[in-house]
Amino acid sequence: MKDAKLVSKLNAGHKSTVQLNDRVTIGDRDIVIIGGPCTVESHEQMEAVASQLKSSIQALRGGVYKPRTSPYAFQGMGGNGLEILSTVSQQYDLPIVTEVMAIHQIEEIAAQAHMLQVGSRNMQNFDLLKALGEVDKPVLLKRGLAATIEEFVMAAEYIVSHGNPNVVLCERGIRSFDNYTRNVLDLGAVAALRQITHLPIIVDPSHAAGKSELIADLSRAAIACGADGLIIECHPEPEKSVSDARQALSLSEMASLVTSLKPIAQAVGRDLCSSVSQAHATQSYSSVEKQAEKQAEKQLVAA
Ligand code: PEP
Ligand code: MN
Repeated sequence: MKDAKLVSKLNAGHKSTVQLNDRVTIGDRDIVIIGGPCTVESHEQMEAVASQLKSSIQALRGGVYKPRTSPYAFQGMGGNGLEILSTVSQQYDLPIVTEVMAIHQIEEIAAQAHMLQVGSRNMQNFDLLKALGEVDKPVLLKRGLAATIEEFVMAAEYIVSHGNPNVVLCERGIRSFDNYTRNVLDLGAVAALRQITHLPIIVDPSHAAGKSELIADLSRAAIACGADGLIIECHPEPEKSVSDARQALSLSEMASLVTSLKPIAQAVGRDLCSSVSQAHATQSYSSVEKQAEKQAEKQLVAA
């Protein structure tokens, strides 16, 4: 990839880190977990997520400008949603990651969020990428629905070459022929990207799987494969999520999943943030597996 001048690795040990605030850095030894609902729906919802997961996650996600397939579907709370994110972020000292869909939203979002997400549908919105190059906030760049690895890397190069070095890549699954899962999580891309680029890489198993019962296994596989973190959708009442309900974990499933990652992280020379206790970890691994098995059984019966 000769044109990936700024994001290519210069040697095997070359790795950059991206700081969200003075406590959370992506790309260091500790795995970073970003959790929260697909869409910000209310203050109570975000407060429940932050209060129950404050020792499991390092950053809070939630969309306030939502790219929806149908123009009639809920498009997000906009500025009011940002206010909610900002209040809860300050109260629980959790940095915020939220999506920016258009250039005109950048200023408003950058004033409140710690990291700006470029959604899959915008990965090659080159004007948006160039504008984000001029922003003094980290960018989470999600892989396009059908983007090649080279297109993904070059999209990151757009942002970095326009002045913003703080880019984190996010593998979130790509379209394929099989519709059992929503997308196909491309862990091969994670392995390849680790060789090609020095940028940190995180994995979104939620939009890849599209089904909550598959997310724990994909999360563990992603950490084993060398991902620097995960972004996972969860909701206080998953079945009531206004968007992506089928893939939302409950808050207790999310907490168990996170603790189950610890032995995997340690096996590959990483760790979880110290607030996640080891004692809980082995127990939770089996409880997450049991939950996943139960859900898979239900699915089979329903099919
Ligand atoms: C999201 O994070 O809610 C989202 C819409 O993700 P993606 O752009 O990966 O589909
Ligand atoms: Mn979503």
